[in-house]
Amino acid sequence: MEAEILAVGTEILLGDILNTNAQYLSKQLASLGINVHFQTVVGDNAERLTQAVNLAYSRADLVITSGGLGPTEDDLTKETCTRYFGEPLVEDEKAMAMLTDFFKALNRTMTDNNRKQAMVPRGATVMYNENGTAPGIIQEGKGKILIMLPGPPRELIPMFETYAKPFLASKQDSIFVSRVLRIAKVGESEVEHLLKDLIDKQTNPTIATYVKRYEVIVRLTAKAKTEAEANKLIDPVAEEIYERLGNNLYAEGETTVSEVVCKMLLERNLTVAVAESCTGGMLSSTFVDYPGISQVFLEGDVTYSNEAKMRRLGVKAETLAQHGAVSAQTAAQMAEGVAKAAGADIGISTTGVAGPDGGTEEKPVGTVYLGLYYQGEVKTKLVHLVGNRERIRIRTVEAAFDWLRRTIQKKEAEQTKE
Ligand code: ATP
Repeated sequence: MEAEILAVGTEILLGDILNTNAQYLSKQLASLGINVHFQTVVGDNAERLTQAVNLAYSRADLVITSGGLGPTEDDLTKETCTRYFGEPLVEDEKAMAMLTDFFKALNRTMTDNNRKQAMVPRGATVMYNENGTAPGIIQEGKGKILIMLPGPPRELIPMFETYAKPFLASKQDSIFVSRVLRIAKVGESEVEHLLKDLIDKQTNPTIATYVKRYEVIVRLTAKAKTEAEANKLIDPVAEEIYERLGNNLYAEGETTVSEVVCKMLLERNLTVAVAESCTGGMLSSTFVDYPGISQVFLEGDVTYSNEAKMRRLGVKAETLAQHGAVSAQTAAQMAEGVAKAAGADIGISTTGVAGPDGGTEEKPVGTVYLGLYYQGEVKTKLVHLVGNRERIRIRTVEAAFDWLRRTIQKKEAEQTKE
Protein backbone atom coordinates (compact mmCIF):
# COMPACT_ATOMS: atom_id res chain seq x y z
CA MET A 1 0.00 0.00 0.00
CA GLU A 2 1.34 3.41 -0.96
CA ALA A 3 0.16 6.41 0.94
CA GLU A 4 -0.02 10.16 0.59
CA ILE A 5 -0.57 12.50 3.50
CA LEU A 6 -2.52 15.62 2.63
CA ALA A 7 -2.52 18.31 5.29
CA VAL A 8 -5.15 20.98 4.75
CA GLY A 9 -4.57 24.38 6.28
CA THR A 10 -3.55 27.85 5.21
CA GLU A 11 -1.90 28.29 8.63
CA ILE A 12 0.69 25.67 7.68
CA LEU A 13 1.45 27.39 4.37
CA LEU A 14 1.88 30.71 6.16
CA GLY A 15 4.35 29.15 8.54
CA ASP A 16 2.15 29.88 11.54
CA ILE A 17 2.03 26.24 12.58
CA LEU A 18 4.32 23.33 11.99
CA ASN A 19 2.90 20.31 10.20
CA THR A 20 3.43 17.92 13.10
CA ASN A 21 0.45 15.82 11.99
CA ALA A 22 2.35 14.76 8.87
CA GLN A 23 5.33 13.75 10.98
CA TYR A 24 3.15 11.79 13.37
CA LEU A 25 1.24 10.07 10.56
CA SER A 26 4.40 9.24 8.63
CA LYS A 27 5.90 7.60 11.69
CA GLN A 28 2.74 5.63 12.34
CA LEU A 29 2.48 4.48 8.73
CA ALA A 30 6.13 3.42 8.71
CA SER A 31 5.52 1.22 11.73
CA LEU A 32 2.56 -0.32 9.93
CA GLY A 33 4.74 -1.10 6.93
CA ILE A 34 2.95 1.39 4.69
CA ASN A 35 5.17 3.43 2.40
CA VAL A 36 4.50 7.14 2.36
CA HIS A 37 5.53 8.52 -1.02
CA PHE A 38 4.23 12.06 -0.69
CA GLN A 39 3.37 14.59 1.99
CA THR A 40 1.39 17.48 0.60
CA VAL A 41 0.13 20.70 2.16
CA VAL A 42 -2.68 22.70 0.64
CA GLY A 43 -4.52 25.79 1.88
CA ASP A 44 -8.26 26.09 2.53
CA ASN A 45 -9.08 26.76 -1.09
CA ALA A 46 -11.59 24.68 -3.07
CA GLU A 47 -9.81 24.71 -6.41
CA ARG A 48 -6.34 23.91 -5.13
CA LEU A 49 -7.71 21.31 -2.72
CA THR A 50 -9.47 19.59 -5.63
CA GLN A 51 -6.23 19.55 -7.60
CA ALA A 52 -4.26 18.24 -4.65
CA VAL A 53 -6.70 15.47 -3.78
CA ASN A 54 -7.06 14.32 -7.37
CA LEU A 55 -3.33 14.17 -7.71
CA ALA A 56 -3.17 12.16 -4.49
CA TYR A 57 -5.71 9.61 -5.79
CA SER A 58 -3.77 9.34 -9.05
CA ARG A 59 -0.58 8.26 -7.29
CA ALA A 60 -1.52 6.68 -3.95
CA ASP A 61 -3.74 3.83 -2.74
CA LEU A 62 -4.26 5.44 0.64
CA VAL A 63 -4.90 9.15 1.13
CA ILE A 64 -4.89 10.49 4.68
CA THR A 65 -6.04 14.06 5.21
CA SER A 66 -5.65 16.19 8.31
CA GLY A 67 -7.53 19.38 9.09
CA GLY A 68 -10.31 21.32 7.47
CA LEU A 69 -13.07 19.32 9.16
CA GLY A 70 -14.27 22.09 11.46
CA PRO A 71 -17.68 23.74 11.09
CA THR A 72 -16.44 26.54 8.85
CA GLU A 73 -14.50 24.62 6.23
CA ASP A 74 -16.44 21.42 6.71
CA ASP A 75 -18.20 21.37 3.34
CA LEU A 76 -15.11 22.20 1.44
CA THR A 77 -12.73 19.51 2.61
CA LYS A 78 -15.18 16.70 3.19
CA GLU A 79 -17.09 17.17 -0.04
CA THR A 80 -14.00 17.73 -2.14
CA CYS A 81 -12.15 14.70 -0.84
CA THR A 82 -15.08 12.28 -0.90
CA ARG A 83 -16.45 13.31 -4.34
CA TYR A 84 -14.15 10.73 -5.95
CA PHE A 85 -16.20 7.88 -4.41
CA GLY A 86 -19.53 9.24 -5.67
CA GLU A 87 -21.52 8.71 -2.47
CA PRO A 88 -23.86 11.39 -1.09
CA LEU A 89 -23.32 12.86 2.38
CA VAL A 90 -25.89 11.65 4.88
CA GLU A 91 -26.42 12.45 8.53
CA ASP A 92 -24.84 10.04 11.02
CA GLU A 93 -27.10 9.53 13.98
CA LYS A 94 -24.44 8.91 16.60
CA ALA A 95 -22.27 11.80 15.39
CA MET A 96 -25.32 14.05 15.57
CA ALA A 97 -26.16 12.86 19.09
CA MET A 98 -22.58 13.52 20.18
CA LEU A 99 -22.66 17.00 18.66
CA THR A 100 -25.96 17.79 20.39
CA ASP A 101 -24.56 16.63 23.73
CA PHE A 102 -21.42 18.66 23.18
CA PHE A 103 -23.37 21.87 22.65
CA LYS A 104 -25.75 21.10 25.51
CA ALA A 105 -22.83 20.62 27.88
CA LEU A 106 -21.44 24.01 26.86
CA ASN A 107 -24.90 25.55 27.03
CA ARG A 108 -24.53 26.81 23.46
CA THR A 109 -26.90 26.67 20.54
CA MET A 110 -25.92 24.49 17.66
CA THR A 111 -25.86 26.41 14.38
CA ASP A 112 -26.50 24.88 10.97
CA ASN A 113 -22.85 24.79 9.98
CA ASN A 114 -22.13 22.83 13.15
CA ARG A 115 -24.88 20.39 12.23
CA LYS A 116 -23.08 19.72 8.97
CA GLN A 117 -20.23 18.15 10.86
CA ALA A 118 -22.38 15.08 11.43
CA MET A 119 -22.75 14.55 7.66
CA VAL A 120 -20.72 11.63 6.37
CA PRO A 121 -20.50 9.82 3.01
CA ARG A 122 -22.99 6.97 2.77
CA GLY A 123 -21.37 3.65 3.66
CA ALA A 124 -18.27 5.22 5.22
CA THR A 125 -16.90 4.24 8.62
CA VAL A 126 -17.29 7.09 11.07
CA MET A 127 -14.48 7.80 13.54
CA TYR A 128 -16.16 9.47 16.49
CA ASN A 129 -14.36 12.38 18.07
CA GLU A 130 -14.07 12.16 21.85
CA ASN A 131 -11.98 15.32 22.01
CA GLY A 132 -13.72 17.72 19.67
CA THR A 133 -16.71 18.15 17.42
CA ALA A 134 -15.71 16.99 13.94
CA PRO A 135 -15.92 13.24 13.36
CA GLY A 136 -13.40 11.64 11.03
CA ILE A 137 -14.19 9.17 8.26
CA ILE A 138 -12.77 6.15 6.53
CA GLN A 139 -14.05 5.57 3.02
CA GLU A 140 -13.17 2.76 0.65
CA GLY A 141 -13.94 2.35 -3.03
CA LYS A 142 -12.49 2.21 -6.56
CA GLY A 143 -9.37 0.56 -5.13
CA LYS A 144 -8.60 3.53 -2.90
CA ILE A 145 -8.86 4.31 0.79
CA LEU A 146 -9.51 7.76 2.18
CA ILE A 147 -9.00 8.55 5.85
CA MET A 148 -10.00 12.03 6.99
CA LEU A 149 -8.82 13.28 10.38
CA PRO A 150 -9.35 16.58 12.22
CA GLY A 151 -6.49 19.10 12.42
CA PRO A 152 -5.83 19.54 16.15
CA PRO A 153 -3.26 16.91 17.20
CA ARG A 154 -5.10 16.24 20.46
CA GLU A 155 -8.07 15.13 18.34
CA LEU A 156 -6.16 13.54 15.48
CA ILE A 157 -3.84 11.32 17.54
CA PRO A 158 -6.47 9.53 19.67
CA MET A 159 -8.72 9.14 16.62
CA PHE A 160 -5.91 7.62 14.61
CA GLU A 161 -4.96 5.27 17.45
CA THR A 162 -8.53 4.15 18.12
CA TYR A 163 -9.89 3.75 14.62
CA ALA A 164 -7.46 4.23 11.76
CA LYS A 165 -4.51 2.25 13.09
CA PRO A 166 -6.38 -1.02 13.72
CA PHE A 167 -8.15 -0.57 10.38
CA LEU A 168 -4.86 -0.17 8.52
CA ALA A 169 -3.16 -2.97 10.47
CA SER A 170 -5.94 -5.33 9.38
CA LYS A 171 -5.09 -4.51 5.75
CA GLN A 172 -1.39 -5.34 6.16
CA ASP A 173 0.00 -8.86 6.24
CA SER A 174 3.19 -7.79 7.96
CA ILE A 175 4.19 -5.16 10.46
CA PHE A 176 7.39 -3.35 11.38
CA VAL A 177 8.74 -3.34 14.91
CA SER A 178 11.64 -1.11 15.93
CA ARG A 179 13.91 -1.27 18.94
CA VAL A 180 16.10 1.66 19.84
CA LEU A 181 19.42 1.16 21.65
CA ARG A 182 21.05 4.25 23.16
CA ILE A 183 24.78 4.69 23.41
CA ALA A 184 26.59 7.34 25.43
CA LYS A 185 30.07 8.75 24.95
CA VAL A 186 31.07 6.72 21.89
CA GLY A 187 31.01 8.53 18.54
CA GLU A 188 28.89 7.39 15.61
CA SER A 189 31.85 6.31 13.47
CA GLU A 190 33.20 4.21 16.32
CA VAL A 191 29.82 2.56 16.84
CA GLU A 192 29.62 1.87 13.11
CA HIS A 193 33.12 0.44 13.19
CA LEU A 194 32.25 -1.86 16.10
CA LEU A 195 29.09 -3.07 14.34
CA LYS A 196 30.42 -3.00 10.77
CA ASP A 197 30.01 -6.69 9.96
CA LEU A 198 26.49 -6.70 11.42
CA ILE A 199 25.55 -3.59 9.44
CA ASP A 200 27.05 -5.04 6.25
CA LYS A 201 25.05 -8.24 6.39
CA GLN A 202 21.83 -6.72 7.77
CA THR A 203 18.56 -7.86 6.22
CA ASN A 204 15.82 -8.42 8.75
CA PRO A 205 16.16 -6.65 11.15
CA THR A 206 17.77 -3.68 9.48
CA ILE A 207 20.33 -1.77 11.52
CA ALA A 208 20.58 2.00 11.32
CA THR A 209 22.81 4.27 13.40
CA TYR A 210 22.27 7.97 13.86
CA VAL A 211 23.22 10.77 16.20
CA LYS A 212 20.62 12.40 18.37
CA ARG A 213 21.57 15.30 20.56
CA TYR A 214 24.65 14.00 22.34
CA GLU A 215 24.36 10.29 21.87
CA VAL A 216 24.32 7.61 19.23
CA ILE A 217 21.19 5.65 18.53
CA VAL A 218 21.07 2.22 16.95
CA ARG A 219 17.67 1.36 15.56
CA LEU A 220 16.83 -2.26 14.77
CA THR A 221 13.74 -2.71 12.64
CA ALA A 222 12.23 -6.09 11.89
CA LYS A 223 9.45 -7.00 9.51
CA ALA A 224 7.22 -9.90 10.54
CA LYS A 225 3.64 -11.08 10.78
CA THR A 226 3.31 -10.36 14.48
CA GLU A 227 5.06 -8.27 17.11
CA ALA A 228 6.29 -11.40 18.88
CA GLU A 229 7.83 -12.74 15.69
CA ALA A 230 9.50 -9.41 14.99
CA ASN A 231 10.94 -9.33 18.52
CA LYS A 232 12.30 -12.82 18.03
CA LEU A 233 14.23 -11.57 15.00
CA ILE A 234 15.51 -8.53 16.88
CA ASP A 235 16.57 -10.30 20.13
CA PRO A 236 19.75 -12.08 18.96
CA VAL A 237 21.02 -9.03 17.07
CA ALA A 238 20.35 -6.77 20.06
CA GLU A 239 22.15 -9.23 22.32
CA GLU A 240 25.20 -9.18 20.06
CA ILE A 241 25.22 -5.37 20.09
CA TYR A 242 24.98 -5.33 23.90
CA GLU A 243 27.94 -7.65 24.00
CA ARG A 244 30.07 -5.43 21.77
CA LEU A 245 29.19 -2.09 23.28
CA GLY A 246 29.32 -3.09 26.94
CA ASN A 247 28.14 -0.42 29.31
CA ASN A 248 28.42 2.28 26.66
CA LEU A 249 24.97 1.05 25.74
CA TYR A 250 22.97 2.59 28.53
CA ALA A 251 19.30 2.01 27.72
CA GLU A 252 16.60 0.99 25.27
CA GLY A 253 13.69 3.06 24.02
CA GLU A 254 12.76 6.67 24.64
CA THR A 255 14.88 7.88 27.53
CA THR A 256 17.96 9.93 28.41
CA VAL A 257 21.10 9.35 30.47
CA SER A 258 19.85 11.78 33.12
CA GLU A 259 16.55 9.92 33.39
CA VAL A 260 18.36 6.60 33.77
CA VAL A 261 20.62 8.04 36.47
CA CYS A 262 17.74 9.62 38.40
CA LYS A 263 15.97 6.26 38.38
CA MET A 264 19.14 4.54 39.63
CA LEU A 265 19.54 7.02 42.48
CA LEU A 266 15.92 6.64 43.54
CA GLU A 267 16.03 2.85 43.40
CA ARG A 268 19.18 2.80 45.53
CA ASN A 269 18.15 5.69 47.73
CA LEU A 270 21.47 7.45 47.06
CA THR A 271 21.33 11.15 47.92
CA VAL A 272 23.07 13.71 45.78
CA ALA A 273 24.20 17.34 45.93
CA VAL A 274 25.64 19.42 43.13
CA ALA A 275 28.17 22.26 42.97
CA GLU A 276 28.27 23.98 39.62
CA SER A 277 30.47 26.56 38.04
CA CYS A 278 30.40 26.50 34.23
CA THR A 279 27.02 24.77 33.98
CA GLY A 280 25.43 27.49 36.11
CA GLY A 281 22.52 25.46 37.47
CA MET A 282 21.90 23.33 34.36
CA LEU A 283 22.99 20.14 36.09
CA SER A 284 20.69 20.78 39.07
CA SER A 285 17.88 21.76 36.76
CA THR A 286 18.26 18.49 34.83
CA PHE A 287 17.92 16.58 38.09
CA VAL A 288 14.83 18.60 38.93
CA ASP A 289 13.30 17.76 35.53
CA TYR A 290 12.79 14.24 36.86
CA PRO A 291 9.55 13.94 38.84
CA GLY A 292 10.03 12.56 42.34
CA ILE A 293 13.73 13.40 42.51
CA SER A 294 13.18 15.37 45.74
CA GLN A 295 13.61 12.05 47.55
CA VAL A 296 17.33 12.07 46.75
CA PHE A 297 18.33 15.41 45.26
CA LEU A 298 19.27 17.51 48.29
CA GLU A 299 20.88 20.67 47.00
CA GLY A 300 22.42 22.47 44.03
CA ASP A 301 24.83 25.35 44.48
CA VAL A 302 25.92 27.65 41.69
CA THR A 303 29.32 28.75 42.92
CA TYR A 304 30.56 30.91 40.09
CA SER A 305 33.12 33.10 41.81
CA ASN A 306 36.24 31.92 43.60
CA GLU A 307 34.88 33.57 46.72
CA ALA A 308 31.69 31.45 46.54
CA LYS A 309 33.69 28.28 45.96
CA MET A 310 35.68 29.00 49.13
CA ARG A 311 32.87 30.27 51.31
CA ARG A 312 30.17 27.74 50.39
CA LEU A 313 32.19 24.65 49.55
CA GLY A 314 35.40 25.07 51.48
CA VAL A 315 37.63 25.14 48.40
CA LYS A 316 41.05 26.26 49.66
CA ALA A 317 42.49 29.62 48.64
CA GLU A 318 45.85 27.95 47.94
CA THR A 319 44.19 25.48 45.58
CA LEU A 320 42.61 28.28 43.60
CA ALA A 321 45.83 30.31 43.62
CA GLN A 322 48.02 27.39 42.66
CA HIS A 323 45.85 25.44 40.21
CA GLY A 324 43.11 27.86 39.22
CA ALA A 325 39.32 27.54 39.37
CA VAL A 326 39.33 25.26 36.33
CA SER A 327 41.39 22.41 37.71
CA ALA A 328 41.09 18.87 38.96
CA GLN A 329 41.98 19.99 42.48
CA THR A 330 39.20 22.61 42.58
CA ALA A 331 36.66 20.18 41.08
CA ALA A 332 37.54 17.62 43.75
CA GLN A 333 37.15 20.08 46.61
CA MET A 334 33.88 21.39 45.19
CA ALA A 335 32.38 17.88 44.95
CA GLU A 336 33.51 16.87 48.40
CA GLY A 337 32.54 20.23 49.88
CA VAL A 338 28.98 20.17 48.59
CA ALA A 339 28.43 16.52 49.52
CA LYS A 340 29.61 17.14 53.08
CA ALA A 341 27.69 20.39 53.46
CA ALA A 342 24.50 18.70 52.27
CA GLY A 343 25.17 15.39 54.01
CA ALA A 344 24.74 13.61 50.67
CA ASP A 345 26.10 10.24 49.55
CA ILE A 346 27.20 11.79 46.27
CA GLY A 347 28.59 15.20 45.34
CA ILE A 348 29.11 16.25 41.74
CA SER A 349 30.89 19.35 40.55
CA THR A 350 31.55 21.08 37.26
CA THR A 351 34.18 23.71 36.50
CA GLY A 352 35.35 24.59 33.02
CA VAL A 353 35.87 27.11 30.26
CA ALA A 354 32.59 27.38 28.32
CA GLY A 355 33.86 30.22 26.11
CA PRO A 356 33.81 32.05 23.86
CA ASP A 357 36.43 33.91 25.94
CA GLY A 358 38.58 32.79 28.81
CA GLY A 359 40.51 30.05 27.07
CA THR A 360 44.28 29.82 27.41
CA GLU A 361 46.86 27.70 25.69
CA GLU A 362 46.98 25.39 28.65
CA LYS A 363 43.21 25.36 29.19
CA PRO A 364 41.44 26.12 25.92
CA VAL A 365 37.69 26.69 25.58
CA GLY A 366 35.96 23.38 26.19
CA THR A 367 38.30 22.28 28.99
CA VAL A 368 36.03 21.00 31.74
CA TYR A 369 36.81 19.25 35.01
CA LEU A 370 34.18 17.17 36.72
CA GLY A 371 34.44 16.15 40.35
CA LEU A 372 32.66 13.19 41.88
CA TYR A 373 32.52 12.47 45.57
CA TYR A 374 31.03 9.04 46.03
CA GLN A 375 30.56 7.55 49.47
CA GLY A 376 33.81 8.79 50.95
CA GLU A 377 35.99 8.78 47.85
CA VAL A 378 36.63 11.65 45.52
CA LYS A 379 37.80 11.50 41.94
CA THR A 380 38.00 13.90 39.02
CA LYS A 381 37.74 13.73 35.29
CA LEU A 382 39.01 16.02 32.56
CA VAL A 383 36.88 16.29 29.45
CA HIS A 384 37.57 18.28 26.29
CA LEU A 385 34.36 19.43 24.68
CA VAL A 386 33.73 21.23 21.42
CA GLY A 387 31.03 23.63 20.35
CA ASN A 388 29.64 26.98 21.41
CA ARG A 389 28.99 28.05 24.99
CA GLU A 390 25.56 26.41 25.18
CA ARG A 391 26.74 23.17 23.65
CA ILE A 392 29.72 22.92 25.96
CA ARG A 393 27.47 23.46 28.98
CA ILE A 394 24.93 20.86 27.83
CA ARG A 395 27.65 18.35 27.05
CA THR A 396 29.16 18.92 30.48
CA VAL A 397 25.83 17.98 32.04
CA GLU A 398 25.56 14.89 29.83
CA ALA A 399 29.14 13.89 30.68
CA ALA A 400 28.49 14.31 34.40
CA PHE A 401 25.37 12.13 34.29
CA ASP A 402 27.06 9.47 32.21
CA TRP A 403 30.07 9.38 34.53
CA LEU A 404 27.80 9.00 37.54
CA ARG A 405 25.93 6.16 35.80
CA ARG A 406 29.18 4.32 35.05
CA THR A 407 30.47 4.90 38.58
CA ILE A 408 27.36 3.47 40.20
CA GLN A 409 27.46 0.46 37.87
CA LYS A 410 31.17 -0.09 38.47
CA LYS A 411 30.84 0.14 42.25
CA GLU A 412 28.02 -2.36 42.20
CA ALA A 413 29.94 -4.74 39.97
CA GLU A 414 32.88 -4.55 42.41
CA GLN A 415 30.62 -5.17 45.36
CA THR A 416 29.07 -8.24 43.71
CA LYS A 417 32.55 -9.59 43.01
CA GLU A 418 33.51 -9.20 46.67
P1 ATP B 1 -11.56 22.13 14.13
O1 ATP B 1 -12.57 21.08 14.36
O2 ATP B 1 -10.85 22.52 15.41
O3 ATP B 1 -12.00 23.30 13.32
P2 ATP B 1 -10.19 21.22 11.76
O4 ATP B 1 -10.21 19.78 11.43
O5 ATP B 1 -11.01 22.14 10.92
O6 ATP B 1 -10.43 21.36 13.30
P3 ATP B 1 -8.08 23.05 11.19
O7 ATP B 1 -9.08 24.15 11.33
O8 ATP B 1 -7.46 22.80 9.89
O9 ATP B 1 -8.71 21.68 11.70
O10 ATP B 1 -6.96 23.21 12.28
C1 ATP B 1 -7.29 23.46 13.63
C2 ATP B 1 -6.01 23.55 14.44
O11 ATP B 1 -5.39 22.29 14.47
C3 ATP B 1 -4.95 24.47 13.89
O12 ATP B 1 -5.14 25.79 14.30
C4 ATP B 1 -3.70 23.88 14.45
O13 ATP B 1 -3.51 24.30 15.78
C5 ATP B 1 -3.99 22.40 14.44
N1 ATP B 1 -3.50 21.78 13.21
C6 ATP B 1 -4.14 21.73 12.01
N2 ATP B 1 -3.43 21.07 11.10
C7 ATP B 1 -2.28 20.71 11.70
C8 ATP B 1 -1.12 20.00 11.27
N3 ATP B 1 -1.01 19.52 10.03
N4 ATP B 1 -0.14 19.77 12.18
C9 ATP B 1 -0.26 20.24 13.43
N5 ATP B 1 -1.33 20.92 13.89
C10 ATP B 1 -2.33 21.16 13.05
